[in-house]
Amino acid sequence: MTETERTPLAVFERHESNVRSYCRDFPVVFERAAGHHLWDTSGRRYVDLLCGAGSLNYGHNPPAIVQRVTAYLAAGGPVQSLDLHTTAKADFLERLSALVLEPRGLGDFVVQFPGPAGTLAVEAALKLARKVTGRTEVIAFTGGFHGASLGALAATTSPLLRGAAGVPLTDVTILPYGDAAGPSGTDPVAALEAALGQGTRTGPPAAILLETVQGEGGLHTAPRPWLARIRELADATGALVIVDDIQAGCGRTGTFFSFEETPELRPDLVCLSKSLSGMGLPMAALLISPETDRWAPGEHNGTFRGHNLAFVAGSAALDHWSDPHFTAHAAELATAIRTSLASIIDALPAGVAEAVGKGAMSGLRFTDTETATGVRQALFRAGVVAETSGLGHVLKLLPPLTMSLTDWKEVADILGDTVLTTVAAEPLGGRGRSNRP
Ligand SMILES: *Cc1c(COP(=O)(O)O)cnc(C)c1O
Repeated sequence: MTETERTPLAVFERHESNVRSYCRDFPVVFERAAGHHLWDTSGRRYVDLLCGAGSLNYGHNPPAIVQRVTAYLAAGGPVQSLDLHTTAKADFLERLSALVLEPRGLGDFVVQFPGPAGTLAVEAALKLARKVTGRTEVIAFTGGFHGASLGALAATTSPLLRGAAGVPLTDVTILPYGDAAGPSGTDPVAALEAALGQGTRTGPPAAILLETVQGEGGLHTAPRPWLARIRELADATGALVIVDDIQAGCGRTGTFFSFEETPELRPDLVCLSKSLSGMGLPMAALLISPETDRWAPGEHNGTFRGHNLAFVAGSAALDHWSDPHFTAHAAELATAIRTSLASIIDALPAGVAEAVGKGAMSGLRFTDTETATGVRQALFRAGVVAETSGLGHVLKLLPPLTMSLTDWKEVADILGDTVLTTVAAEPLGGRGRSNRP
């Protein structure tokens, strides 16, 4: 073994597939995590604003959740149970219904556990929508990310991911997202109306699949009138509305579901995953309106539908939603984030960056990927882990919703200094950029 092979990263470089990605941007080895902090093997502490791409809305290892999981294990509760009845699943279903669904007018929805990954909730939703309507085509939108398995991938627009499919990705029509013009400058509402009016290639669609805030796609936020029109057009054509709330849900935008401030949207199917288990255990759920639950028993399945540790953790996580201090704090943090971003932008030369996203799912969109990458790298040197998304020019900030305002303020100061220094160090000192498209 040569000297270089003995670096702490050598094991990954030698044994892990070339497909690995996030780890390339943060080349250290993490050993410990608590709240909004991560520690590497040298003992260095980082502030984590990546948070498992939004799967750690309650922070790393939240003590109240960890305690319930360890107690369940210590008591010898079953861990794997396919879809058998367990007390852990009963508790989770009761809490989800009482604390989330009923107060939000979705009390008659039922829950399908499709398996441990977000993409499995999307696959189940697409399959069910096609079965219920007897149609094949699905409408999805530019910038959407729904998962890497073939059905969800067909509705995902990242060229890198699509290019790896190896087979044609069919039966999905991609239209411009609500805040984006189409290739010929078409307005997204008109594009949607035209596509539905003419029928898609194979007739009226089975479903319209969307994120209300695009997590991986660069924090595009759908305007309310566009969302309302989606429901109207779905009703007019007999299509179902599927909201992929895998990243934007579980409180990320300030309310449990990202569509609560848009009651007109009334989804038929809602995909949840990421922060659903509350501590990063794999878990996904598909919420199904009563009219749409036309599955025959066993018609769709998966071995890991019954991950009881995730049910136990998820129940503890849902308890946050009965605590008015938690919900008030999440809303305050969301406001504090937007205020910090606005003041960072004020301090920058005009046109260098804009604030994008919604609530605690916000970030800075730079005019180019170089600046965004430079900021991400400088942040990491300053001990902050944050990712870039979209076409690589959006710095995405996903702090735990439990982070205190004082801690956020400290991070926001580092962020502000880092952005200013990075922009000032660029060839034009950040000037002259306002003329760029
Ligand atoms: C992460 C994500 C998915 C896919 O979830 P996986 O667990 O990675 O399969 C789907 N949709 C959205 C909006 C996501 O953010």
